[in-house]
Amino acid sequence: EISSSQEAIQLESKYGAHNYHPLPVVLSKGEGVYLWDVEGKKYFDFLSAYSAVNQGHCHPRIKEALIEQAGTLTLTSRAFYNDVLGPYEKYITEYFGFDKVLPMNTGVEAVETAIKIARKWGYEKKGVSEQQAKIIVAEDNFHGRTTTVISFSNDENARKNFGPYTPGFIRIPYNDLTALKAALANNPDTVGFLIEPIQGEAGVNTPDADYMKEAKKLCLEYNTLLLADEIQTGIARTGSLLAVCGDCSCEGHCEKQETYVEPDILILGKALSGGFFPVSAVLANETIMDVIHPGQHGSTFGGNPLGAKIAMTALEVVRDEKLAQNARALGKIFRERMQQLAEKSPLVKLVRGRGLLNAVVINDSSDGSTAWDICLALKDNGLLAKPTHGNIIRFAPPLVMTMEELHSCCDIIEKTILAF
Ligand code: PLP
Repeated sequence: EISSSQEAIQLESKYGAHNYHPLPVVLSKGEGVYLWDVEGKKYFDFLSAYSAVNQGHCHPRIKEALIEQAGTLTLTSRAFYNDVLGPYEKYITEYFGFDKVLPMNTGVEAVETAIKIARKWGYEKKGVSEQQAKIIVAEDNFHGRTTTVISFSNDENARKNFGPYTPGFIRIPYNDLTALKAALANNPDTVGFLIEPIQGEAGVNTPDADYMKEAKKLCLEYNTLLLADEIQTGIARTGSLLAVCGDCSCEGHCEKQETYVEPDILILGKALSGGFFPVSAVLANETIMDVIHPGQHGSTFGGNPLGAKIAMTALEVVRDEKLAQNARALGKIFRERMQQLAEKSPLVKLVRGRGLLNAVVINDSSDGSTAWDICLALKDNGLLAKPTHGNIIRFAPPLVMTMEELHSCCDIIEKTILAF
């Protein structure tokens, strides 16, 4: 048993691979929007495990579902059927408005799955010649850590010395429709455009309002699939069920409003389980998903009854608690408060985001150490957030936050930054 934060940090340092650089806080308990460290200090969580705990920490309904299913049946593999997967597949496809789902576990596995489906669709339906399929991606993308996915990253730290890289990807600037059109026109073997509707890891990089809509039109024009990676942006985070829903908060009863941009392949993860368990999913319509036949793709844990039950409950919570609407209302206030702060503090250069996925760009001429130091001070003042890409601080609390709590958090952020 751990007796101090220091001890836990030392153990990780000694026995764990050093593939992360965490903020020095050791958490031992979570509930709703709160986290507690080993010493009992209480914090507001403003990262939500990179948007995996949109429903709040240890949500009681999801916990109950987990406990019940864990005592009944957890894993059968797909060698046999199980009695939760079918109901889950019906539930999630109706929830998001697609014919079919392919269940996986982690986010990057779902991205890999989407890439495989798009390539296979390209060869078998579009008529692309063998080995020629191309997928267009965006600069500063983040889609995970597998060898293929880092192959098309432009983050040198994520890529260097992990080659040889998987070919078949074309990188274009984000939020650049001219570049997309040119890439599609110059590469008739393109099978997919893989895109984050808002780039989360890049620092909550929010494109022009019509970007996804116009991108979809171009994809249609060039018979190319639109692959939306909503692993971070999806499931109510941006104030609508999905970021591709645009300005619509119909809470999982999407009637496909005018603002909706339908991806051909929708990729979900993270909050699909409310943070209890790795659950990811790839959704598509029949004419795309039917390229996958037995033996061509799978995963021992994908579609397991425990994950399926958890995911169904996690999605019910999002709808029942109107989390998209809450994220929308709170996000607006958050950005207003941060704008006010920007007027008072030269350190706040820019505020951007949608719903409760927001970022504050810190005016830092050096290496981003100011953002890190601000996060350390925020921690001391009871709020946990983490810099991304040097000088950008992402603010993404669980979506179960109340307006009063949000104002308390804005007070903490304001006090902390004004003291710098
Ligand atoms: N795609 C996006 C947009 C993400 O934000 C992430 C994780 O941060 C991933 C994919 C990878 O998910 P995972 O870490 O579960 O593999």
